[in-house]
Amino acid sequence: MNITPINAFTDNYIWALHNDQHCVVVDPGDPAVVLAFLKAHNLQLSAMLITHHHFDHTGGIDELTHNYPQVRVFGPNNPKIKGITHPLTNADTFYLDDLKIEVSVMTVPGHTLDHIMYYAPDMLFCGDTLFSCGCGRLFEGTPAQMFDSLRKITQLPRETLIYCTHEYTQANIAFAETVEPHNKALAQYKLWVELQRSNNKPTIPTLLSDQLQFNPFLRVHDDSVQAFAQSIAGDLGQKTVTDPVQVFAALRQAKDDF
Ligand code: ZN
Ligand code: FE
Repeated sequence: MNITPINAFTDNYIWALHNDQHCVVVDPGDPAVVLAFLKAHNLQLSAMLITHHHFDHTGGIDELTHNYPQVRVFGPNNPKIKGITHPLTNADTFYLDDLKIEVSVMTVPGHTLDHIMYYAPDMLFCGDTLFSCGCGRLFEGTPAQMFDSLRKITQLPRETLIYCTHEYTQANIAFAETVEPHNKALAQYKLWVELQRSNNKPTIPTLLSDQLQFNPFLRVHDDSVQAFAQSIAGDLGQKTVTDPVQVFAALRQAKDDF
């Protein structure tokens, strides 16, 4: 099986899981680029996996279903998303027969309240929950919800490859450097990211073990990340920030204002 990113809009990745006959896409926001990919590789679309209701992740459901009436559409149990044939909730599992993959589902409220992720051994499709060196904005959920959702990711096997849906890595690194200016793993990663981007290559997927070394949102227990959160909170007149959810909330706020 291959996993290929299809570029969409300005910085979205639609992940295509495929063998030489069948294809499953994650978050097909733009139907045209998916149809072009299927045609170019002579593939049948067998399923769509949807992570949350935002249009850049759902905009292609209707037209792709029209082109492939047998397609199964997995997604959150949110009636506002039109075209889901298999609504899912936490700990659900399903089998993608064509690709022979057993997928398990985790609910991860935070970016949106309906957000779910898809895990199969060594791969995670996390939508807009985690990005390389960053995490999704809190449009609907609370910091506590997002913190819990990110913790679900950190509990996965370290060798898990994380397939995010946006190429935000360079901007995220700029923020992460202000949080941890002396993080050597971050400095090394930045060099690799610059090389990838200058060759027009994706920086995704990314290894969980790497993210644990330099993604500030996964490092709220680290002393330097806590010190940064404390400095932000101090500016806001708050006393001490030690609780991990407070550290996370301060970081997220600082990133929104960055
Ligand atoms: Zn989103
Ligand atoms: Fe998005």
